Amino acid sequence: MPEVHVVLLPGDGVGPEVAHEARLALQLIAPDVGIEERLLGAAAIRATGTPLPDETLEACRRADAVLKAPIGDPEFDAADVRPEQGVFLLRSELGVYANLRPSSLDGVDLVIVRELLGGIYYGARGVREDGTVFDTCEYRPDEVERVARRAFELAGRRRRKLTSIDKANVLETSRMWRRVVREVSAGYPDVEMDEMLVDNAAMQLASAADQFDVVLADNMFGDILSDLAAAVTGGLGLAPSASLGDRPGGLFEPVHGSAPDIAGRGCANPAAMLRTVALMLDLALDRPAEARALERAVDGSIASSPTPDIGGRASTTEFADAVLGALAA
Ligand code: NAD
Repeated sequence: MPEVHVVLLPGDGVGPEVAHEARLALQLIAPDVGIEERLLGAAAIRATGTPLPDETLEACRRADAVLKAPIGDPEFDAADVRPEQGVFLLRSELGVYANLRPSSLDGVDLVIVRELLGGIYYGARGVREDGTVFDTCEYRPDEVERVARRAFELAGRRRRKLTSIDKANVLETSRMWRRVVREVSAGYPDVEMDEMLVDNAAMQLASAADQFDVVLADNMFGDILSDLAAAVTGGLGLAPSASLGDRPGGLFEPVHGSAPDIAGRGCANPAAMLRTVALMLDLALDRPAEARALERAVDGSIASSPTPDIGGRASTTEFADAVLGALAA
């Protein structure tokens, strides 16, 4: 067994296409890192009946980092057992509560820190006898505190500005979120903190995203705002993410989904997945120089070999080959 090893989850749809390129880049830039592939999502349901098989979870727990391609398949949209359940369970089993989603382009350079293990995505849900359907948004103060600390620490290493997002004019959870974030903020006097309602934040991200440095949001607001941030900085095909907890390592995945509309056509943009590899090299494997080299190579390919989603004609493989060529040179 190699000293450092990574579990690669190729996922569904365009997942295996971009995971293949990520594997080649990782092998080139960090040849000593062992790579072990496991099933997650629709592929895992088809093979084993469950979206997160025990052996996948055990392998992820043992690994130094987990590199996940997107999962999801429309075939399971109405099923009781769905691919997404595997991701939610994997995130909670690995305890990765802080999801970092960096976006940059033309003067915009921000990171959304999304709370990943609480809120409406994990709350009680169901159907009552009268047909009412409900999803519950719940947060404990310590769940808000730990992700807020992570975000303030990150802001302290960046431009020292943090914007906390909520809907405190309506939601109880948001009022508690505000109180806890203010308390945490007292411990980081060097970081300037402001608060913004989520609807205003959406407008500000669309029209003046350069004002933001670190943006802290709950699970659902962070999910939605980070797609918006991705859209104003080049699109989903470019956006990576890192999910971190208190243990070393983490779960690294692109922001985008399995893109079933373009799966199998060889035109998915592998930039988000390759940038995700760079985040993993930096934050979990302590190889910042390799991370920077990979980021530069991806930036070069965005300029020289763009895929159709960013206005070019290159295939997934042509884009990735340009990255590998730059790395080898
Ligand atoms: P999506 O991100 O898959 O696709 C949205 C749009 O962006 C599509 O038009 C798609 O073609 C395009 N796109 C996405 N990634 C791209 C890439 N790398 N290159 C070029 N174009 C790209 O979102 P969706 O269509 O809402 O969801 C599809 C499936 O993915 C669903 O089953 C959903 O649950 C799942 N999903 C999974 C994750 C995850 O694994 N973390 C995240 C989001 C969605």
